Amino acid sequence: MKSSNNTTPDALLDEAHGKPIVCGGCELLCEDLTTQSIQSGTGCALADNWFAHGQLRPESVIDGKNVPLTEAIDMAAQRLLSSRRPLITGLVSTTVDTIQIACTLAERIHAAIDANASETSILTAPTAIRVGDVTADFEELRDRADLAIFWGCDPIADSPRFIERFIQPVPHNGVRRTISIGPTPALPPSSHNLHFSVAENQLVSLARMVQAQVEQKATSRLSGALGNIADQLKKSIDAAHCIGFISTTTTEQTGLVSWSLSHLTRSLAHQKPSFEIRLNSGTAAGGGNCAGASTVCTWRFGSPGAIPHASSAGSEFLPAEADTQRLIERNEVDCMLIIGRISSRIKDLLTRSPKPKTVIHVSDTFPLSQQKNSIRLGCASLSHSTEGGMLRSDGRLISLQPFATSQQPSIQKVLNDLLDQVAVKTRRRSTP
Ligand code: SF4
Repeated sequence: MKSSNNTTPDALLDEAHGKPIVCGGCELLCEDLTTQSIQSGTGCALADNWFAHGQLRPESVIDGKNVPLTEAIDMAAQRLLSSRRPLITGLVSTTVDTIQIACTLAERIHAAIDANASETSILTAPTAIRVGDVTADFEELRDRADLAIFWGCDPIADSPRFIERFIQPVPHNGVRRTISIGPTPALPPSSHNLHFSVAENQLVSLARMVQAQVEQKATSRLSGALGNIADQLKKSIDAAHCIGFISTTTTEQTGLVSWSLSHLTRSLAHQKPSFEIRLNSGTAAGGGNCAGASTVCTWRFGSPGAIPHASSAGSEFLPAEADTQRLIERNEVDCMLIIGRISSRIKDLLTRSPKPKTVIHVSDTFPLSQQKNSIRLGCASLSHSTEGGMLRSDGRLISLQPFATSQQPSIQKVLNDLLDQVAVKTRRRSTP
């Protein structure tokens, strides 16, 4: 696949030629791209999209009119302070440092903060909080798991190079077998790659059946099609030395699929090395730092998102209540600060939202067409010229490798300047 970004006005850094570059297009945060592959096409459509915006020079704009960045920052600070129900969202296409600044700003203006991750939009919240996940890093799966079980997920859609990087390499102990549970096979079916067609609404029952067998609570053969699948799964599990489950966020809203798989993994982990790798839906998220956003929010406010009023002294955690989707749908936001590239989920929400609101967007790209009540703060390319770290979903810190100089300030600098302006105006307002 070829990229459309053949030219960039920002100068490529000479020393970057041939050096590995990190892609922030999804949570795999691949570290093996080069400037040559980015210019000629990476072979990953999501990555090509991530790098396709390097040539843009985002202008700063207030209500459709181009203005200097300082003026836009000044106006953004005014509107944030005048807002009654501000919300800070986006975040996942930016670095951990930038998310820290966003959290400070959220606390300063008593804003809601939520990166719009799918797990904060379900009532049962992240599974790890409820039952504790047994997990491992991606390389552990690559090197140790001789059985990889895809549990109702489509890794190609969620993280396009996951199979190439972490399943296709041969594990240290020999051959790897895979089993896909779900409507479509993750790999072409063969003697080593089995596929069992299971509907999403049967995944909980299947996990419970296999768990009962693992814990030897089911002593006789299970009946029915699902029972047969559970039997075959159990046989494959018995024959394996190390098992990695790969799951993703599902469309069901109860969280029970994740809950039942976490319990199954925990039961198995008492008998042999077993763990679960959870992939977020990269295409819809808008960037690869979902783990960074949820981790920083947890450090600062005690929960990964869905925080109605940011306060380090104690914030509420209201999943499916104070998440971005619900706040917009219930018209409980009058000013949104979107930090970084906008995800398709947020874009759809804004398109559907009937009530006008102020939208302040800090980014290198501006796909929203809204002009009235909108402020755009342009920054250097997030994919080409940004320094800092992102967290992979397995917790590994990955350092971005900027490979082009930019005339624009970094997103960290723009946000810091906005924070300073908010502080100045707050002081002025409180001075008699
Ligand atoms: S799989 Fe994800 S991180 Fe890797 S190159 Fe593709 S978009 Fe980038």
